[in-house]
This record gives sequence, structure tokens and C-alpha cells, in this order.
Amino acid sequence: MKDTKLFVVIPCYNEEEALPETSSRMLKLFDKMKSEGLISNDSKIVMVDDGSRDKTWSIISGLSEQNDVFRGIKLAHNAGHQNALLAGLMTVKDECDCAVSIDADLQDDINVIADMVKKYDDGCDVVYGVRSKRETDTFFKRFTAEGFYKFLSAMGADVVYNHADYRLMSSRALSALSEFKEVNLFLRGLVPLIGFKSDKVYYERAERFAGESKYPLKKMLSFAFDGITSFSVKPIKMVWSLGLIVCLAAIIAAIYALISKFFGYTSDGWASLMCSIWFLGGVQLVSVGVIGEYIGKIYKETKARPRYIIEEYKKD
Ligand code: UDP
Ligand code: MG
Repeated sequence: MKDTKLFVVIPCYNEEEALPETSSRMLKLFDKMKSEGLISNDSKIVMVDDGSRDKTWSIISGLSEQNDVFRGIKLAHNAGHQNALLAGLMTVKDECDCAVSIDADLQDDINVIADMVKKYDDGCDVVYGVRSKRETDTFFKRFTAEGFYKFLSAMGADVVYNHADYRLMSSRALSALSEFKEVNLFLRGLVPLIGFKSDKVYYERAERFAGESKYPLKKMLSFAFDGITSFSVKPIKMVWSLGLIVCLAAIIAAIYALISKFFGYTSDGWASLMCSIWFLGGVQLVSVGVIGEYIGKIYKETKARPRYIIEEYKKD
């Protein structure tokens, strides 16, 4: 056993109903892992209040006063799940050996945290928590959530299937993450870009035990849209292809128009209009595609992502 200094980061938005239970379950798990020598005694549970409007912050500050295993970070306003998570991770990255991020509703099985830490001890920098089943989710949630992963990968954003934001990252992986300066944050897509040795642990997803989902369909759709537009220039490339298809159709339309004209089925001016409309349509789409390519490049530049991440440097 390596006595790993583990920090668990929990973003909380209006979670007054869930927090008392969450904190006591986490505390029990910590005591167990400490007694097994898996994590060190100065491991912490860090709760990030994402500008909640209920009693979330007073619960968090109460916990941190009672027991110094708890820490609280209060964001000045509701920054959204991804930003709240990042705020927590970046605050602790230099202090811990590794950090696990998990939702406040404990839909993700906390017992696999021990497995994550073991994998970390074996040399993994990133351990993804992957849902093996979704039986407890409603059909609608399961359908939309699974569609979400498939659609994202089809659109070119490389995400781990059925993995949300339940994962362990070593402090080295967190430092690498801090090199990504983008404002439109989509952590699920970013973490695989870091590289480093990674592994997965599987668990069954439970029901939210208290309170309501903070991710209604509308938020989920905009999250998916964010994921695609923050990761992929595929939609731009699709404009290109569409332009080429229309150009091809223009040729067919021209042949059709000329034949019709030749056989005298047409009124005056129809053939030339027909050809111009199709041809111009194609030219316009291709032009938009070309401009899009440049915009795609600008978009990549403005992200200022790190061009490489060094994993090891052996000297002498
Ligand atoms: N959350 C947050 N800020 C927000 C929305 C949600 O910090 O603006 C937190 C929330 O408290 C929870 C996690 O993000 O810990 C995931 O939210 P939720 O469980 O409601 O999502 P679902 O599991 O339904 O997808
Ligand atoms: Mg949840």
C-alpha cells in the first residue's frame, strides 16, 4: 500500500437534500479506505458549491467546521457543472497525489473509488468510471444519454462510451489539464486528449436518492451541442461535402435541362435559369466550406491547446 493522498471533488448545485447522506457515505468510505491503508490520513473531501440558492453552502461550511476531512469551495455564481468541477480540481491539483471527481447525488457507485486508487497505485494517471448498466435510469434518460455518446463520436469528439465525469486523475494529469485554456469546457472530451496511461472501472449506476436532476433535456442538448462544437470541425466539413454534392447535382440538372430544351419541351429561359440556380447553389456552398476551413483553423488556434504533453524525461 502506498498511502495515497486522495482528494474527492464534488460539485454541488442546490443539493441540500442530497448532501447530508452523501457526506456521511463518503466519510464512511474514507474511514474504511484509511483503515485499509489505501489512502493517507490527510486525504480530503472537497465540496464545490456552484452558486446554489438553497442551504448547500451552509451545510458544506458546517461540515468543514466539524471535521477537517471536509473542505468547501464556494463559487461566486452558478458557473455550471463543468466549470465547478474544474474549479475544484484546479484548486487541489498541487496538494493531492490524485483526485476523484464525482456527482453529489451518488448515482455513481462510490465503492469503486477504492479500485480507482488501486489502479492509480499501479501506475495509471487517469481511471475512468464507466457505467456497465443503466437499468435504474428511465428509458428516456437512457435513450438520450446513450444517443448522446454515439452522436458525439459520430461527430468526431472522442469520448469514452458511457463515462460521465466520474474519474480519477493523478496530479500530473491535472497539471496537464490545466494547460488547456479553453473557456467552453467539455472535460469528457479533454481528458482523453491528455494521453498518459489510463484504465477503466465498471459499476452500475444507481438512482438519484434525493432531489431532482440538474440536467433536464434542454441542458443536456445544449451540453451535447457544446461538446460537438468544442471538439470537432466535422460540421464545417459537412458543408464542403454538401457543396460538392450540389455541384454534382448541378451537372445532372444541366444535362436534364439541355436534353429537355433540345427536344423542345421547355419554355424560353427555363434551361438557363435551371442551370444557373443549381450551379450557383453549389458554388456558394463550396465557398462557405472554404471559408469554414479557415474558420476551423482560427478556432483551433484560439483554443491555444498544448501541442504536446511530456510524460517522462529521463536525464543522465
Ligand atoms: N451541478 C453543478 N452545477 C450545475 C448543475 C449541476 O455543479 O449548474 C452538479 C450537481 O449538483 C451534481 C452534478 O453536477 O452534483 C450532476 O448533476 P445531476 O446529478 O443533476 O445530473 P444527472 O445525473 O441527472 O445527469
Ligand atoms: Mg445525477
